[in-house]
Amino acid sequence: MSPWNKISTNSTGSKGNHSHPRCPLCGFKRCWKHGKYTRKGFHRPNAELLGTPIPVQRYLCLGPPCGATFSELPEDVLPYCRFFLSDLFSLSDTLTEGWSAYWIAKHQWGLSLRIILRAELLIRKATLWLESLCRETGAKVETGFQMLVDAARKPFSWFGFTRRWFHSLYPCRAGNIFNPHNLGIKRI
Ligand SMILES: [Zn+2]
Repeated sequence: MSPWNKISTNSTGSKGNHSHPRCPLCGFKRCWKHGKYTRKGFHRPNAELLGTPIPVQRYLCLGPPCGATFSELPEDVLPYCRFFLSDLFSLSDTLTEGWSAYWIAKHQWGLSLRIILRAELLIRKATLWLESLCRETGAKVETGFQMLVDAARKPFSWFGFTRRWFHSLYPCRAGNIFNPHNLGIKRI
């Protein structure tokens, strides 16, 4: 299903402002919806760029003295990745079937080889991390990228899973998340 079909239409001030997720910094449960930003420029097969920007909900932690802001990505949207997770699944399948990154770049996606190679590297890094996550949580270590993701994310919400994904696969960027100067974390 397209991720933008799953997005809640609750706006600030509407019922349901106090909802999950918990604050990732302090664990406080009461987080207020705090506007939205949009993600755009997703890669789609055959050189299509996804025209519709995808709204991402931001939250403000009401736990004193935290006051952090953070966002919850819609299902299928990954942090810092311009491929949808479902498209990484199909990319991984095509690579496993033996098609070259060059062929995929040229004939399937209409993208530069560099972008496909980068996605292939991300899948490889994610696979290693997902295997260790499965071992950590006692889940069966499945073979194949999609099966592995399905097994690894089972104990977590999409929010919890993408936070772990981000911190494990982008440690340099994640290191900045607690620096209020870099992320505009607000004090209340
Ligand atoms: Zn907090």
